[in-house]
Amino acid sequence: MSNIIIVGSGFSGSILARKIAEELDRKVLVVEKRPHIGGNMYDEVDEHGILIQKYGPHFLNTNKYFIIKFLKQYAELFPFNVELMSFIDGKYVRLPFNFETVQQLIGPEKAESVLAKLRAAFAGRDRVPVLEIVEHPDPEVSAYGELLFEKAYRTYTSKMWGLQPEQIDKYVLDRVPMAMGYDRRYLNKDFQYLPVKGFTEIFKNMLDHPNIEVRLNIDALEHLKLADGKATYDGEDVECLIYTGAIDELFGRKYGPLPYRSLDIRYTYSEKDSVQPCEIISYPQAKGYTRSTEYRKIMFDDSAAAGSVVATEYPLDYVPGAEVGGTPYYPVVTEDSTALYEKYLGEVAKYKNLFLCGRLAEFKYYNMDVCIEHALKYFENVKDYLTKDHD
Ligand SMILES: Cc1cc2nc3c(=O)[nH]c(=O)nc-3n(C[C@H](O)[C@H](O)[C@H](O)COP(=O)(O)OP(=O)(O)OC[C@H]3O[C@@H](n4cnc5c(N)ncnc54)[C@H](O)[C@@H]3O)c2cc1C
Repeated sequence: MSNIIIVGSGFSGSILARKIAEELDRKVLVVEKRPHIGGNMYDEVDEHGILIQKYGPHFLNTNKYFIIKFLKQYAELFPFNVELMSFIDGKYVRLPFNFETVQQLIGPEKAESVLAKLRAAFAGRDRVPVLEIVEHPDPEVSAYGELLFEKAYRTYTSKMWGLQPEQIDKYVLDRVPMAMGYDRRYLNKDFQYLPVKGFTEIFKNMLDHPNIEVRLNIDALEHLKLADGKATYDGEDVECLIYTGAIDELFGRKYGPLPYRSLDIRYTYSEKDSVQPCEIISYPQAKGYTRSTEYRKIMFDDSAAAGSVVATEYPLDYVPGAEVGGTPYYPVVTEDSTALYEKYLGEVAKYKNLFLCGRLAEFKYYNMDVCIEHALKYFENVKDYLTKDHD
């Protein structure tokens, strides 16, 4: 068994495994508790021939082309701009909220003056966070911002996070800004792609290296011991432990559990080839659920598919071990949880051979492009450690 151990086979764990195996020519053991690789990016073709992303829909979007180039080494990608709509007051309106939405929500007559004021207020801006519109000094502009905020953001955020928008990190609200024009692209990054055969193929190829061994269905915490500044796995010394799971779980939640949100994803099959007007519908006003995804609409080749599947997301708190809600999807970043996270960081500092990387380990809402770039940079720390005398 290698004494370089990586816990987790999502982007963070898989990228680090590949870099260590390839660039340092060292053997690596990847331990994964799920029955598959890929972490939350895992997808598979279901019995209807439809490629389903098991942990919710993912779209690769970035302004940095090197991320795309990096992934193209492992799988073929195709350009894909995802389209979304929001179901508000009984009608489908454009998402991102844009100038078309203004007309849909308040009617063209009232929209005329609001649009003119939005143009003047945010001239030269492509996208503007809703809070900036709410806080604008012009009462007509701020009234429109308020309407959008109350009809869409407040309701969606409170369902999604189980908190009011005022309690949650501002970054979360800023993720869905209003488009200042008629741009229909939900994501406004320059490079938007999906893998032709799905994300899992990327991970299969990335982990396919003679120096990498992957063991599935193993909870590393049942084998790891952290004590006296030393990590051991099944009683053996570990030279380097890279952990990409939840940081509080690594330390037995000794300071209390960090909050994560989970999802209950429910699937509905239809014999029709198309069910919704676009790939994803957001439901800020619906009871319990936030959005639905029609996976057939995002497939590169759906010629072998029969009918269509819609996946509806019901957010709930993460409860470790629960059948529903037992997967941590999103770190809930608030002032209190950040303070708690920092206590756990204090524990990490006691172990010089312990490296924490990734969304759960660093308690950050990383998009995959940021996660990939971060893992590539993070490798330099690991390399530094492994190539220098560290006894
Ligand atoms: C619903 C959803 C939608 C998203 N959509 C997008 C999107 O459209 N675009 C985008 O850019 N990003 C999106 N993201 C973010 C993206 O999923 C992440 O950036 C990326 O998957 C993070 O990878 P990671 O390796 O850090 O974490 P993860 O993928 O969570 O991997 C961690 C791995 O560690 C394993 N593990 C944990 N504990 C243990 C243990 N004790 N023993 C063994 N294994 C363990 C887990 O099983 C998991 O496989 C989305 C995230 C979610 C949740």
